[in-house]
Amino acid sequence: MTATALQRIPTLVAGLRHSHSRGITRPEEWRREQLTRLRALLQDRGADFEAALRSDLGKSGTEARLTEIDFLVSEIDHALAHLARWMRPRRVRVPLAVQPASARIVPEPLGVVLVIAPWNYPLMLALSPVIGALAAGNAVVVKPSELAPATSTLIARLVPDVLDRRAVAVVEGGVPETTALLAERFDHIFYTGSARVGRIVARAAAEHLTPITLELGGKSPVYVDGTVPLHLAAQRIAWGKFMNAGQTCVAPDYVLGRPEVLRELAPLLAEAVHHLYGSAPEKNPDYGRIVNAAQFDRLVGYLADGDAVLGGAHDAEQRFIAPTLLTGVDRAAPVMRDEIFGPILPLIEVSGLDDALTFVTGREKPLAAYVFSENAAVRRRWEHETSSGALGFDVPALHLVVPDLPFGGVGESGMGAYHGERSFRTFSHEKSVLSKPLSPDTLAATIMPPFTARKDAIVRRWVGKLREPRV
Ligand code: NAD
Repeated sequence: MTATALQRIPTLVAGLRHSHSRGITRPEEWRREQLTRLRALLQDRGADFEAALRSDLGKSGTEARLTEIDFLVSEIDHALAHLARWMRPRRVRVPLAVQPASARIVPEPLGVVLVIAPWNYPLMLALSPVIGALAAGNAVVVKPSELAPATSTLIARLVPDVLDRRAVAVVEGGVPETTALLAERFDHIFYTGSARVGRIVARAAAEHLTPITLELGGKSPVYVDGTVPLHLAAQRIAWGKFMNAGQTCVAPDYVLGRPEVLRELAPLLAEAVHHLYGSAPEKNPDYGRIVNAAQFDRLVGYLADGDAVLGGAHDAEQRFIAPTLLTGVDRAAPVMRDEIFGPILPLIEVSGLDDALTFVTGREKPLAAYVFSENAAVRRRWEHETSSGALGFDVPALHLVVPDLPFGGVGESGMGAYHGERSFRTFSHEKSVLSKPLSPDTLAATIMPPFTARKDAIVRRWVGKLREPRV
C-alpha cells in the first residue's frame, strides 16, 4: 500500500468538487455507466480480489465471493434495476388551503462524498457505500483501510482505471491521510468502524456542518430459549459467529440462556463448529485469520476471562485463534465489556427472559440482537422492549442481504443507514418543490393583509381545518 501524499488531498477534493458542480455526475446515464463498469471490474478481477482478501484476512474464496465480491455485484444489480424509480420526483398531496398548487419531492445529489472504510470486509465496506453515492449522482472519495493493505492497494490500482477519474478518487493511508481528508469540506461523510473514531469523524464533520452516517459496532447479543431445536440454533449461531473468524460487525457477540439451555447448547455449538471447520480449523482453508498482531493480542487476552470449553488454541505467527466457547465468564469481565470482534463466544447464564432483557437493555444499544425462540410472546417482548440496529429471529447477520431492509445502528452502534433504496436516499437531498400558479390568486383573497372581516372569518373557520389534504 502506498499512502497518498498529504499535499495532494486538497487538490484532489477540489477537482472532484469542480466536476460535481459542472454537473457531470448528475445524468442517469453517467450513473449507470459507473455502476456497470464497477460491476464488470468486480467480475473480471474477482480472482484478484479473492487473492487480496486471502492475503489480508485468510478469507476463503467462497466466503470472499459470498460476503464481498458477489454481494457488491448484487447490490449494483439492485441499484440498476431500481435507479429510474428512485430518481423520479414523487408527487405529494397539497392541503386545500394551499390549492391550486402541485408539490413534489425531487432527489438531488449531495455533492462530494467521503467514504471511510474498515478492514474486516475491506472490499465490501469500501465499495458498498460508493455504489449508493454514485447511484445518487455524487462525486466520491473512498479511503480503504490501511489494515487490509492488499485490498486497499488493489482498490487504488483498479478502481480509478474503470471509473470516471474526474468524479471518483481513492485515497490510501491511515490516520494522517484520514485526518487530512477530514479537514476538507464534504457534503456527506460515510464512516464505518469503531465508535472511538466515529467520534473523531463527527467532530471534524461538525466544523463544516457536514451530515454523517456512522456505521459502528457493539456487542450483539443472542438469546436462546428451550423452545427451538437447539442443534439448528447452534449451527446458525456458529456460522454467524465464526465467519471471517468472528470479525464481523453483526456477528453474535455472546449468548444468553438459562443454565439448562446453555448446558445443552454448548456441546451442540462444538458439534456445529466441527461440522463447519473440521477438527483442525488451523488447517482448514475455510477458516479465516485475525487481521493483525494487535487484534490477535487483544483477543488472546480475553481467553483468561473464562473456561474454554471449546477451542482456546492460538498461534501468533499464523494469527490463528480457534473457534472458542467460553463459560464461567463474569458479567463485568473485559470480554463482556468490549465488543469481541473475534472468534470467542461467551455463554452467559441468565435466570430467564426478564433477566436477559434487563441485561441487554442495561447496556449500549447493539448493532443487532438475535433471538432463537418459537414463543410468540418472547419474540414480541424482544421486539417491543429492546432497541438495536436490527433484530433477527432464528438467524444472525442475514438481514444485511435484504436490500429493502435499511442497514445501520442506533445510539452507540451508529446513526443513519444504507443498502438498497436507503443508500440512494442517504446520499441524496430530498428537495421540496412547490409550484403555485399566480392565477387564480387565492392567497391575496384569503390570507394576505389587509385583513378584512371576511378574511378573518375564512382564517378562523377554514384554514386550520383544511391543513389535512383532501383525499
Ligand atoms: P477503526 O475505527 O479503527 O478504522 C476505520 C477507519 O478509520 C480506517 O479507514 C482508519 O484508517 C480510520 N481511522 C482510524 N483511526 C483514525 C483516526 N484517529 N482519525 C481518523 N481516521 C482514523 O475501525 P476498525 O477497527 O477498522 O473496525 C472495527 C469496528 O468497526 C468494530 O467496532 C466493528 O463492529 C465496526 N464495524 C461496523 C460495521 C457496520 O457496518 N456497522 C462494519 C464493520 C465494522
